[in-house]
Amino acid sequence: MKCRACGAESPVGVFFCSCCGRPLAEGEPIECENHVGVRAAGVCVLCGKPVCGDCASSEGGRTFCEDVSHRRLTKTHSLLGRASSEGEAELIAKNLQAAGISVAVFPGRSFFYLSRLTGEERTAIYTAKEEIPDAVRIIGNDDLTEFITFEHPAP
Ligand SMILES: [Zn+2]
Ligand SMILES: [Zn+2]
Ligand SMILES: [Zn+2]
Repeated sequence: MKCRACGAESPVGVFFCSCCGRPLAEGEPIECENHVGVRAAGVCVLCGKPVCGDCASSEGGRTFCEDVSHRRLTKTHSLLGRASSEGEAELIAKNLQAAGISVAVFPGRSFFYLSRLTGEERTAIYTAKEEIPDAVRIIGNDDLTEFITFEHPAP
C-alpha cells in the first residue's frame, strides 16, 4: 500500500505510514490520545502516539506528537533497527551505552497502532547518526545481532 502523503510503501493492513505517520486508508478510527472523541490525524513517527491536528506537529512532512524532544531527536539520531521485545532492546541499549553511544528506545506500541493485523511488537532503537557504524560493530562483537533487525544493511 502506497502512502499518498510521502510515497513510502507499507504492508497491507497497516493503518498509519511508518515513514511519515499519516493515515493510509479509512480504517477503524483511532482517537487522539489527548482529546477523547477527536480522530487522530496521524501517529508520532517516534513514539507512535496518536494525535489530532491540534496536537500534532510536522517536520519535513513527518508527524510528531506534542513532546518536542521527539522532533528534536530525529535531527541527531537515526533508526538503527527494531528488536522484537522491549527486554531485548534494553539489553542492546545497555551494551551500546556502556561503549559511550547515545541511544534512545521507543517501545512497540507504535507497531500496535501501525498494524493490528500482525499484532507484532517491535521496539525501535535510535542511535546518534554518526555512531551507527560503531553501534552495528558493537552489537556484532557482543553477539546480539539475533535480537535486532537492522533498519539498514550492516555496513
Ligand atoms: Zn507516508
Ligand atoms: Zn512522540
Ligand atoms: Zn489532540
